[in-house]
Amino acid sequence: MSEQEKDMELDSAVYKTLLESTRAIPWKIDWSTMQFAYIGPQIEQLLGWERSSWASVNDWAERMHPDDREWTVNYCVSQSQSGVDHEADYRALTKDGRYVWIRDVVHVVRKPDGEVDCLVGFMFDISERKKIEDKLVSLQRELEELSYKDGLTGVGNRRLFDSVLEDEWLKARRNQSPLALILIDIDYFKQYNDHYGHLQGDECLKRVAKALDLTATRSRDFLARYGGEEFVLVLPETDIEAALIVAERCRRQIFKEQIPHQRSEAGPVLSISLGVGSCIPGHADEPRDLIELVDERLYQAKQQGRNRIVADGQAQAR
Ligand code: GH3
Ligand code: MG
Ligand code: MG
Repeated sequence: MSEQEKDMELDSAVYKTLLESTRAIPWKIDWSTMQFAYIGPQIEQLLGWERSSWASVNDWAERMHPDDREWTVNYCVSQSQSGVDHEADYRALTKDGRYVWIRDVVHVVRKPDGEVDCLVGFMFDISERKKIEDKLVSLQRELEELSYKDGLTGVGNRRLFDSVLEDEWLKARRNQSPLALILIDIDYFKQYNDHYGHLQGDECLKRVAKALDLTATRSRDFLARYGGEEFVLVLPETDIEAALIVAERCRRQIFKEQIPHQRSEAGPVLSISLGVGSCIPGHADEPRDLIELVDERLYQAKQQGRNRIVADGQAQAR
């Protein structure tokens, strides 16, 4: 054996040791036969299948999650045919029936004439990374939800209200359908807090939100906490008569709760005042116009003695 041959033998022994001691799993597939020419012994530790059981690319494809198989195989084959290095993430089946997330990084080796000779690559176990990614996605979702939810009552917050109203406004304007708003304010709530304490005040707000949520029955009806002790209902495709019925249902629902309020001047139990409005938005109108209208009507309901609904400048009899 020449010095050069000895060096080469030494080199390949070193490479083999290196390859087989990394956590990534090296492999080689002969392109003309689609057979594994090599796969690192680490594969057995990761997936449980004996090294000798990896004969053809079919063994690779068959040990893949059915949901990942088609696109992964198609993608890898088409990339390889075009001679493009690539990588793919998929779930590989273990011998004991579990799935492990793998990232396969593939290098296409060509012959001098440019034809594909073989594919060589590394499989990486990325299950931990996937777990963290999934966790991040669910945290992200939770965060999004939190940023649209009122922390105390769990109903929509002001931010979500603004965006729902904007959307519904545009839809109503496009379809020329009526859009109704009901602004709801608890009567003498300052006194409630003063008398029963802020914590019980919070509990009371939660109860009110829950009760009001029951009154909005259609799928696009939407309830939000508008401010401290104010709530707002957005009712798409609802004219003033229909909105009045919902408003009356709200008032009655809160009455049914029979929440004692000794310091209310409107009666012995907690009550609400409501401003109601509905309009078919014209091109020059703004959502703000409708808000101002119902706000003004709510103010009138307070002026006229509370525990009542104002829908058109006239208070509805209790
Ligand atoms: P009115 O009948 O005219 O509506 O009188 P009011 O006392 O209900 O109205 P006002 O707007 O003067 O007071 C609202 C009170 O709501 C003041 C504030 O202490 C209370 N409030 C606002 N947000 C919260 C909250 O998150 N928790 C509690 N417990 N109270 C709150
Ligand atoms: Mg108020
Ligand atoms: Mg109030």
